[in-house]
Amino acid sequence: MQYIDNIIFLILLVAGFWLFAKSLQKIYRNIRLGREINRNNRKGERWETMARVAMGQSKMTKRPVAGILHLFVYVGFIIINIELIEIIVDGIFGTHRFLATIIGNTLYGYFTATLEILALLVVIGVVLFFIRRNFYGVKRLTMKELFGWPKEDANWILIIEFALMMAFFTMNASDFILQTRGFDHFARIGSFPISEITFVPFFEVFSFDNGFLFGIERAAWWFHFVGILFFMNYLYYSKHLHIILAFPSTWYANLEKKGKFNNLDSVTQEIKLMMDPNADPYAAPAAGDAEAPSKFGAEDVFDLNQVQLLNAYSCTECGRCTAVCPANITGKKLSPRLILMKTRDRLEEVGRNIDKNGKFEDDGKKLLNDYITKEELWACTTCNACTEACPVLLDPLSIIFDMRRFLVMEQSAAPQELNLMMANVENNAAPWQYNQADRLNWAND
Ligand code: SF4
Ligand code: SF4
Repeated sequence: MQYIDNIIFLILLVAGFWLFAKSLQKIYRNIRLGREINRNNRKGERWETMARVAMGQSKMTKRPVAGILHLFVYVGFIIINIELIEIIVDGIFGTHRFLATIIGNTLYGYFTATLEILALLVVIGVVLFFIRRNFYGVKRLTMKELFGWPKEDANWILIIEFALMMAFFTMNASDFILQTRGFDHFARIGSFPISEITFVPFFEVFSFDNGFLFGIERAAWWFHFVGILFFMNYLYYSKHLHIILAFPSTWYANLEKKGKFNNLDSVTQEIKLMMDPNADPYAAPAAGDAEAPSKFGAEDVFDLNQVQLLNAYSCTECGRCTAVCPANITGKKLSPRLILMKTRDRLEEVGRNIDKNGKFEDDGKKLLNDYITKEELWACTTCNACTEACPVLLDPLSIIFDMRRFLVMEQSAAPQELNLMMANVENNAAPWQYNQADRLNWAND
């Protein structure tokens, strides 16, 4: 029986990690559909930014209550899963709490006690988050754009985390009772301060016999193990992918000053050439001259860069960007959160197309118009409030900007007001309809 248990465990373990690796591989392939972008400079600053923002959650402190609860859930959940190492060894070799034999009973007692306290903090965090999300009416969490799967996903993840923690306490409590009764191989190890005052008295009310308690302990142990594998594989379909991708996203974040746009080198070069009276327009390009891109701006996910696609997968759908977006606040049809959600949806659609056909077959759709409308794009004031508010340094504005660039430079499809302004700049070197010579007329009187 023990032998069968170990084999089932090993099969589940390998299958769980194999599926997870496949999902990561798919994400990597999809991100690489985007244009390459060189963000390997300023490495020291990038490591520091990642440590501060992703690991240290520094931007979460702007809303301290949510920030602390998020820290409970994040730190608690990650550390508790260190226990997975113990579960794996116990599952493969049929041992029981093998870590105690390595680090000694005293240290193991501190270890299990710490895990229990963290588990309690996780429970407090997820329960309060669930109440806040479903009953407290925070606008950014109850907006129409979250109806359907995004809302269900957010709730499911809280429910899964809660269930995993309950299984953890159940396992510890039944284990503790069996230990104190000296049942079979259950030697007295570990310290379970939370289980002892919650689940243990509850179990004792029912005076469960040893066999039944052993069954509960095993069931909770298996539930905990399978639950972790399930959670890991669920991430691919969830906004909770950010628990992994927030790290590369913050590392590859745009470190330039906000408001500094990425001018196209080839265009800058062209303009400099036009303004230089001695330049030879027919001269062969010099070494190091920037080449014009095959397409200006972005019409589909293939035209976005790889960091923008990584951003789409990393979005936590928290809506902090949308909550501060002046366009959204004033009722325009623009939500920076939705820009990233739609980009991810389109990227996933392209990924499924590749899975099915071996390569991308034109599906007659584009990110522009089929997912993101011109109305949304032109509603943006380019104020950068969204990028400032994002807790993981995502940049929805850069996607909006690149898609606008496509509209203007490839389709000449800017709104009439802008076309007029751009024609004025071209003709009068100013946005107004005056002759350059008249520019100071306003000061005549
Ligand atoms: S940059 Fe655009 S999308 Fe971002 S907050 Fe400002 S208006 Fe909204
Ligand atoms: S872009 Fe950032 S702020 Fe906006 S929803 Fe995604 S994670 Fe939150």
